[in-house]
Amino acid sequence: MTRVHHPRSLEEATALVAQLDEAIVYGGGTAIQILLKQGLISAPDYVDLLHVPGLSELTHVGERVRIGAMVRLREVERDPHVRRALPLAAETYGHVANPRVRNTASAGGNIAHGDYRLDPPAALMALDAVVEIASTHGVREVSIREFFTDFQQTAVQHDELVTAILVPRPAVGTVGAFTKMRSLSQNDWPCASAAVLMVPEDDFVDVRIGLGAVAPTTVYVAFDLTSDMNARQAVDVAIEIADSVMEPLPDVRGSANYKARMGRVAVEESIRRCLEELDRD
Ligand SMILES: Cc1cc2nc3c(=O)[nH]c(=O)nc-3n(C[C@H](O)[C@H](O)[C@H](O)COP(=O)(O)OP(=O)(O)OC[C@H]3O[C@@H](n4cnc5c(N)ncnc54)[C@H](O)[C@@H]3O)c2cc1C
Repeated sequence: MTRVHHPRSLEEATALVAQLDEAIVYGGGTAIQILLKQGLISAPDYVDLLHVPGLSELTHVGERVRIGAMVRLREVERDPHVRRALPLAAETYGHVANPRVRNTASAGGNIAHGDYRLDPPAALMALDAVVEIASTHGVREVSIREFFTDFQQTAVQHDELVTAILVPRPAVGTVGAFTKMRSLSQNDWPCASAAVLMVPEDDFVDVRIGLGAVAPTTVYVAFDLTSDMNARQAVDVAIEIADSVMEPLPDVRGSANYKARMGRVAVEESIRRCLEELDRD
């Protein structure tokens, strides 16, 4: 018999996942429903987070935007404050699948899913976001850059829940761009993606790059753009360091070589868009 639990507090939710050995946490269910239909997962207990207070809220706490785990992807994409404070996040969440999936999928479920092709983690890595994780032992924070530990693996333990994603507001003058390369259809998963954030510092620009779909996990690299580098040199450096972390997995969306080539195109496109906005072309 399958039991679906609807906890009404975070304490109740964390107690349930601590007690129930094989429970599946239910966010928006978009990934779970497909895996269930494919017979790849099954569980006697589901813990639905929909009614846990606070998890569906998108708020601003000091210099950070707090995206509750049950906030829908569509809300991150469309929220006017996110669009102003974190345009790279709004842009990237808007690239996930189609409006139907984005209206249902949750921000916490998205990262907890741990798929290497997900779009949001590339932008969250460039933005230096932090994941808030709760259990009966308390709350801990993990950098999104350390959150994806291996293929389909994350830092979330069986008795833990993702409760929020905390994103620092970038400094004034920061620019960003997300490029998604698709090989099958417009609404499909990427065969490669690149989120770039350029943060102006005193005498250089901090260039941060998150890469999706080109390694067993989302990966992150960074470099300093100095005033003597032109656009071509910036693109060359970005591609060189991106190449050093790309290990694409071949599948229906392309061979490893094809995905690496698309990864380079995505990096170049995002770098050039940022440079144009910085007026450095
Ligand atoms: C047709 C289709 C196309 C897609 N295309 C894309 C795409 O182009 N780009 C992209 O990025 N994604 C894509 N996706 C994936 C989509 O982003 C994920 O399915 C979705 O984000 C998962 O969120 P969810 O809330 O529905 O998670 P769920 O299905 O509810 O859960 C996913 C996993 O996370 C766990 N989980 C959920 N919430 C929590 C929590 N708060 N704490 C701990 N664990 C939790 C669940 O137990 C499960 O293991 C696509 C999905 C579909 C169905």
